[in-house]
Amino acid sequence: MAPLSILIVGCGIAGPTLASFLLLSPLAAKEKPHITILERSPALRTQGQNVDIRGAGMTIIRKLGLESTIRTCLTGEEGAQIVDAQNRVWAEFGVDRTGKVQTGTSDIEILRGRLAEICYKRSKSVSEQVVRQGGAGVEYVYGDYLETIDQDGQKVHVTFRNSGEKRSFDLLVGADGLQSRTRNMVWGAEGEDDRVRQLGLYIGFFSIPSAATDNEWRRWFHAPGRKGIMLRPSEVKDRRTVSMGVINEEDTRFKEAAADGRRGMAFQKALLREYFQNEGWECERLLREMDATSDFYYDMVAQVRMDKWSKGRVVLLGDAAYCASPISGMGTTLGLNGAYNLAGALLRHPEDLPAAFSEYEEAMRPTVDRAQKLAPGMPRLIHPETVWGMWVMRAILWTIWCSGLQLLMFKLAGPPANAVPVVEYGFRELQDTPIDLEK
Ligand SMILES: Cc1cc2nc3c(=O)[nH]c(=O)nc-3n(C[C@H](O)[C@H](O)[C@H](O)COP(=O)(O)OP(=O)(O)OC[C@H]3O[C@@H](n4cnc5c(N)ncnc54)[C@H](O)[C@@H]3O)c2cc1C
Repeated sequence: MAPLSILIVGCGIAGPTLASFLLLSPLAAKEKPHITILERSPALRTQGQNVDIRGAGMTIIRKLGLESTIRTCLTGEEGAQIVDAQNRVWAEFGVDRTGKVQTGTSDIEILRGRLAEICYKRSKSVSEQVVRQGGAGVEYVYGDYLETIDQDGQKVHVTFRNSGEKRSFDLLVGADGLQSRTRNMVWGAEGEDDRVRQLGLYIGFFSIPSAATDNEWRRWFHAPGRKGIMLRPSEVKDRRTVSMGVINEEDTRFKEAAADGRRGMAFQKALLREYFQNEGWECERLLREMDATSDFYYDMVAQVRMDKWSKGRVVLLGDAAYCASPISGMGTTLGLNGAYNLAGALLRHPEDLPAAFSEYEEAMRPTVDRAQKLAPGMPRLIHPETVWGMWVMRAILWTIWCSGLQLLMFKLAGPPANAVPVVEYGFRELQDTPIDLEK
């Protein structure tokens, strides 16, 4: 049988991880898949701030020999503090280091851009090894995207938008994130509103220089009008990361700013400035630094819900298929886990794509369903509308903190990552070797 030719759209977290596992199969180098990764951005996208890797996600990281590299890049967050305009702490929820109860802060917190770099570099080193052994490895194409996707019984035929090149593959994997163009093109734009369940929250993520008030805790400030800011430690010790969010379904500019990239960063920043400029606390500092930052990233908060993640020879992976939202703390873990299970299913059924895709779905569905179950009322309950509502929320959180009930609360809510079994597919496991990182 000829090796599978696979086009992976998106070089984020899930895309390059899939490529690594596909090439770590026990097949001889010449029989391993021929992989192309297509990334729309002209270079690897290294924006994005704090993400968690939990449970099964870390098992997969270990299989790729990446644990020690990941551990040198942690943000070191001690937990989350709810603060008011005077910076008084109303409640404190510490990091879980036992692995038994997962609180809002995982023991593995890393910057998304750093993780993307690590996943990409691992795929590159695995690919180089396969090429040395006579295989095809991975071809990376940047700065382009697909204009057309057509499929017949034998192949998926695509046209690249910028180069105009036409190519055919055995299968296409859409790992192009929450606003997946692959999903839109193959499943149809008309169903996007049903598939992408918006939670009404819009967030700007960026990093800023540290100041004397910063510490190793995530400080979480709320303002009336359903606004919230998280100010968090970074891997870079003289910097902090910020996520600035507003729940607002009436002001359509928030949605437009997320949907229409042409409006651009200046428009997104101006919108956040309009909403946060008179809110006190450290808003003035954060807005000033937001204007100066170059790593700003803005998006809607949403979940992707689909009955099926494949159509013919096209399959979706990671946020494109089952985004659980940053509120779940599970996006990265689902992306890693999905990549591993999809590679495993393709290894078991290389000649029967429907069987491979349904095995992938079976493996992922229970984890995705649990990850997408947010606590009741989230995210609105934690972003009150009025000053009175904020006071009530802080008082409730203070009571939970003082009574020690948070442990019980987290146990009951328990993110599913620790309970997720990791199936053995027989991939070659890599020795833990450090990756050379851009510092
Ligand atoms: C720039 C950025 C910043 C992020 N910041 C955060 C954050 O701060 N906190 C958080 O919780 N989550 C963040 N996320 C989401 C987080 O990365 C995912 O939830 C999770 O890691 C799953 O990753 P993924 O690989 O499925 O998708 P993503 O990490 O979103 O990767 C998708 C990749 O596909 C590329 N792409 C998109 N469209 C196309 C196209 N048409 N053709 C080719 N390539 C395309 C993107 O440029 C990106 O590289 C961010 C995502 C991105 C892209």
